[in-house]
Amino acid sequence: VGAEDANYLVPLIGTIPDVPKKGILFRDFIPVLNDARGLRILLDALIASLPVPADEFDSIAGLEARGFLFGPALAARLGKGFIAVRKAGKLPTATIGEEYQLEYGTAKVEIEVGAVSEGERVLIVDDLIATGGSAKAAADLIVKAGGTVAGFSFVMGLDGLNGTDKLGEAPTSILVTMP
Ligand code: AMP
Repeated sequence: VGAEDANYLVPLIGTIPDVPKKGILFRDFIPVLNDARGLRILLDALIASLPVPADEFDSIAGLEARGFLFGPALAARLGKGFIAVRKAGKLPTATIGEEYQLEYGTAKVEIEVGAVSEGERVLIVDDLIATGGSAKAAADLIVKAGGTVAGFSFVMGLDGLNGTDKLGEAPTSILVTMP
């Protein structure tokens, strides 16, 4: 997208200090979704900066919850299906799960059995990459389910955390990097 569109998009991202705890700058992209032009620019920008060409992946997997807010729209624009990577315990069917480490304790993500077919090439999306732990867990889950990870696409990335180091070889795109 052009400079004019970028200059429109970036200021729509909200910054809330000390949420969810002191010292954290919470980066809120929901105002982008509220704004018709912002949402259009966001989808255009994600498509223009895909880490791999659209014909090199079959579907898009989004992380609960904010990956659900734009992943299906992006998938629909590209003619792909959408895989919901949910937090544990919410899906009604048999699931495949992957546990990962948090700062304190562990978390788990799940998909439904059958959501990924053997050899399916999946692009993983989320609103923001910080340490990369959530995206890595989603990637491990896709592989466990028989798929392959074609790449990762994030709206925002946090400086200095080197989150993409966790993601291995798969190409990654980040639209906006911020402190
Ligand atoms: P991580 O697993 O450390 O890469 O954290 C990424 C997940 O946590 C994403 O799903 C983000 O939505 C959320 N997250 C982490 N840090 C922030 C932040 N500063 N602002 C908003 N969301 C965040």
